[in-house]
Amino acid sequence: MAQAIEKKPTWEKLRDKYRVVVYDDDTLGEVKSTRISGLSVLIGLLLTLLVMSLITAALISFTPLKYLVPGYADINNNMAYMELTTKLEEIEQEMEAQRVYTEGMKNFLNPTGVTIDQSTGVEKGQIAAPTSTLTPLEHYYFHSPLKGEISAQFDLSKKHFGIDVVAEENTPIKNILDGVVVSVDWSEQNGNTISIQHSNDLVSIFKHNSSVLKKVGEKVKAGEALAIIGNTGKHSSGPHVHFELWHQGNAINPQEYMTF
Ligand SMILES: [Zn+2]
Repeated sequence: MAQAIEKKPTWEKLRDKYRVVVYDDDTLGEVKSTRISGLSVLIGLLLTLLVMSLITAALISFTPLKYLVPGYADINNNMAYMELTTKLEEIEQEMEAQRVYTEGMKNFLNPTGVTIDQSTGVEKGQIAAPTSTLTPLEHYYFHSPLKGEISAQFDLSKKHFGIDVVAEENTPIKNILDGVVVSVDWSEQNGNTISIQHSNDLVSIFKHNSSVLKKVGEKVKAGEALAIIGNTGKHSSGPHVHFELWHQGNAINPQEYMTF
């Protein structure tokens, strides 16, 4: 009867000792021998594996070798991309906030909603003040308002912003250039006064008239009679006209541009 062979569990087999002997091939003499067990071989293998894994991990983590790992560079790029996207979103939000703020300020400063042309700074619908396109006054032909004698000169130091011209009674005062009547007025000091706005930012003013022949808003041609010379107002002492000519906000001497 065959005897049943007792089967050892695997873990016990691992503990069985073996002798590994190295013989010299020529002499058949024993060169080296050592005793090992399956367990020690297994442990040795596991240790070797562990060390190799550690070395590989270190190489990948701390050297540029990591860039050879497929997908690693992509991940890095993706992270940079995500950061950029986030930053862009933040900037967009800031810009929107700025826009809302600017809009609010605009409404606050300009509740009427009149828009200003950014390039010229002039309200839309208005004519931009001509700057370099102004015609020099010397190029104008001024119609003389009347013939007479200058009784008081133009003198800024005395704040006499015009000239006084004496003439006969009932002499008509004539318009010097095409324009529009912008003011007809009476005051105790100046009597009957008429003011004309001309092109080129020119304004002419006549004071002390006995009567004015035009109304505010009327267009007047050069040479047209505007008023009749008089003696009205405190500053008048005989039939004369006080004539002022203003150019771009500055009083100028009419005698330099026309004869009387
Ligand atoms: Zn005067």
